[in-house]
Amino acid sequence: MSRPQLHGELEVQDDIPVPEPEGSEFLVKISANSLCNSDLAGIAGYTGSTPPYVPGHEPVGRIVKRGPATPSSFQVGDRVGFMPGSRVCSSCRSCLLGNHRFCKSRTNFGFSGMFGGFSEYSLVDPVSAVKIPDGLTDEEAAPLLCAGVTAYGAVKKAAQYQTPGTLLNVVGCGGVGHLVIQYATKMGFDVQAFDVAEDKLELAKKCGAKFALDSSQPDAAEAAEKAVCTIVVSGVSAAYDFAFKVTSHHGKVIAIGVPHSPTAVNILDLVLRDISLIATNQGTKDELYSCLQLAAARGIKPIYEKHDINTINQGIADMTAGKIVGRYVYSI
Ligand SMILES: [Zn+2]
Ligand SMILES: [Zn+2]
Repeated sequence: MSRPQLHGELEVQDDIPVPEPEGSEFLVKISANSLCNSDLAGIAGYTGSTPPYVPGHEPVGRIVKRGPATPSSFQVGDRVGFMPGSRVCSSCRSCLLGNHRFCKSRTNFGFSGMFGGFSEYSLVDPVSAVKIPDGLTDEEAAPLLCAGVTAYGAVKKAAQYQTPGTLLNVVGCGGVGHLVIQYATKMGFDVQAFDVAEDKLELAKKCGAKFALDSSQPDAAEAAEKAVCTIVVSGVSAAYDFAFKVTSHHGKVIAIGVPHSPTAVNILDLVLRDISLIATNQGTKDELYSCLQLAAARGIKPIYEKHDINTINQGIADMTAGKIVGRYVYSI
């Protein structure tokens, strides 16, 4: 069995025994896993992850062995994807609300332990797993396991405050942003997308954005039409300054992108214009299910390049340099 581990650079190992599923868990042979910015945050030490561990949290594969108490809804041969929270308590407030990813007793695979998405085999907790619908290949489904459900969750939040047919801003058109644009468009919003990179603006147009504007231009914020909600996918502090400027009175700035240093917010401006800042990350298992179903039914397709797992360190370098357009998906 092979999987990369963290020792400075990621290292692929081929000599690790295949684990046995216990309790309700099942064993999955992973076929595809895509690289996420959160993997880089973990590797850089921002998530409290302690090496060695196996990163990766956008995995798709097939069940190859059931545990003694695996629910009957999961059978050998089923194609599944799964989210990081596993071995949860199932009794805390977060678990009871379906937010297993916040359970304090969870194992956060991909950020700790040896069953991250870049493993060849992983032990999977059924509370975090969903079946992949027909109509999505393994490579198309993988980025939806984190980037997709995060995008869908953010658009759902925006939909609480504005109706389809209205303008929705998206700041940042990369791996998550291009999915925000697709979900927002399919859910009926007119997307006004912003980025500073020409290739990302091209991607935004390809994904259905009605407007794709260069936010680095002087007076770009002042010239743009304001929207009720602005979803920020960029991890740059300046993107938040920009987002508040292009959000209308009584509006919401919805935060996905995470700057790696504290970001100053002008509270007076928020108070005077009645603007709120809302944070979001990933989603519940129900939201993951809906995000996959919507993608399969409405033709939402991540833009990706397929790479071999042995080139993972080059992928990390490319993502760090902002060179990835869409997602890198790795065959395991
Ligand atoms: Zn819990
Ligand atoms: Zn992620």
